[in-house]
Amino acid sequence: MSVFMKIANAVFIGVFCFQEIINGIFYTKQLQNVAFWLFIQLLCTMIINLYEDWYNRIYRLKTDTDIKEEIQNRISKKCIEYDLLTFTKSDNLDRYKRVITSTDEKCIEIFESVFDYIASIGILILAGAFVVVEEPIIAISIIFCYIVDMLLTLRKNKVLFEEYMIMNRHQRKEDYFIRVNYVKNFVLDSRVSNISSALQKQYDDSYAELQRDIKKYFLKTSGYEALSALNKMIFGAHIPYILLGLLALITRKYTAGEIAVLVAAMIKMRTALSGITMIYPKLKQNMLYMNDYQEFMNYEPGISRNEKGICPETKANSIRLQNVTFGYDKEHPVLRNINMEVKRGEKVAIVGYNGAGKTTLVKIMLRLYLPDTGSVFMDDTAAEMYNLSAYRERFAIAFQESNTYALPVAENVLMDIYESDKKEQVEEALNKAGLKEKTEEYAKGILCEMTQEFDDEGMELSGGQTQKMALSRVYAKESGIVILDEPSSALDPISENEMIKTMMENTKGKTLLLISHRLSAVRDMDRIYFMEKGEIVEVGNHKELLERGGKYARMWNAQADKYQVNNG
Ligand code: ADP
Repeated sequence: MSVFMKIANAVFIGVFCFQEIINGIFYTKQLQNVAFWLFIQLLCTMIINLYEDWYNRIYRLKTDTDIKEEIQNRISKKCIEYDLLTFTKSDNLDRYKRVITSTDEKCIEIFESVFDYIASIGILILAGAFVVVEEPIIAISIIFCYIVDMLLTLRKNKVLFEEYMIMNRHQRKEDYFIRVNYVKNFVLDSRVSNISSALQKQYDDSYAELQRDIKKYFLKTSGYEALSALNKMIFGAHIPYILLGLLALITRKYTAGEIAVLVAAMIKMRTALSGITMIYPKLKQNMLYMNDYQEFMNYEPGISRNEKGICPETKANSIRLQNVTFGYDKEHPVLRNINMEVKRGEKVAIVGYNGAGKTTLVKIMLRLYLPDTGSVFMDDTAAEMYNLSAYRERFAIAFQESNTYALPVAENVLMDIYESDKKEQVEEALNKAGLKEKTEEYAKGILCEMTQEFDDEGMELSGGQTQKMALSRVYAKESGIVILDEPSSALDPISENEMIKTMMENTKGKTLLLISHRLSAVRDMDRIYFMEKGEIVEVGNHKELLERGGKYARMWNAQADKYQVNNG
């Protein structure tokens, strides 16, 4: 409909009605005819304006919002499929930023371009035919002008896309610098250290680089723009008008009215050609953005979701690692030939110094990373045989660094949508984690919003309380294996003891894997693995490891003073 309106506006109102008005004034000299066509021109213009207003402000607003929502949903869903490791590579982050910020806009532009393209062709055929029939030489000059213009625009757009890729990286850096000024974890550091000066310096350097890039691309594109303007001026305006003037003077076949109509048709033809020559390169450029999106969507995760895979048993599960080696960069393994087994219902600990590879090992168990060599087994079946979601569902995990979300407390505990039938489950989990009293301080209780990001009455937690929130998630989940990665690093010794006691009581019949560098937390475990530099160097229970007098015993002795206080 919009296409039809555009053609009607350009050809019927701009040329046909205009011709009738000119005829009325210069030839028939019938004023009522002139008045009639003026009235028609005015009426059509009003109808078209009203329609365009409705189309742009109501119809387009809805369709554009629908398209945006659909695309953002697809991107978010796809993003979850991406292997965790891809988020540590800056090229991938650049692409993610590109698709998330540009795809919806570019997709809408493509729709618009297609309609504009059809409208321009319609106008070109009708208005152009008029010029071609009257003065083909003028039509040739205009057509030549816009073919050259299209070639120049294609070249320019290629450079612009290159510029966009570079600017996108700058934009991501800028986003980061802006983010650290207001995100809670960062603002504290900037108050008590000089980190903001270091960041400011980085930002200034990045800004200087941005300015250099802008200049570089400006010089590249401005050449094309100057050529394009010159071409349009000479072949699109000067030559056609000079030719028309000369032909009118030499042949004397045109009246002033006919010249006016021919000029109107020439203008419409130029506008249509200008539209086509701009739309085609724009379409081509937008297809580059869509290819980027397509490549993003076509990504096949290295870790298959294996939708048709088997489901693990819904009781305590065992987990086994066999000759597992893994490196974030293949040349430098951070896990070497790991053999480990946690049987159904066993309580096992992994201990060792920072950077030994403990968290990486857990991520391998969860199939967040694939081992470079070796295998992972759950209940003696290779992990890759399972449906990935069902497999991961068997784990309840509290990571050392956990997040709270600007959602009700209940959803932060469940990490899922809250329904009122889950009230008891949430309250029990909060109680076990030691957060019941904290929640009761708030009138809305478990429905209180977490963080003050959007709600001034929101619940803010300390570091230790955030760890307790992570533990409440473990208590709220029906899982076969509980993994706790340094769950007590932010807890005071008394809370830590209580936490371990409650956890042992509440994971009876479940498999428990506890990672800690605090040996007081692991002494009652069935088995302890001591890791160093990506290898398991000692295995045994607390008593056996102390008797061996090795690395575990040395670490224990180094921490002994603290344990005596704790035990006391
Ligand atoms: P731990 O949990 O024992 O403290 P981690 O498993 O977190 O140790 O880390 C083991 C090693 O792997 C460290 O040297 C760390 O720097 C490195 N590492 C951890 N995560 C990444 C990552 N995403 N990319 C590259 N190296 C990493």
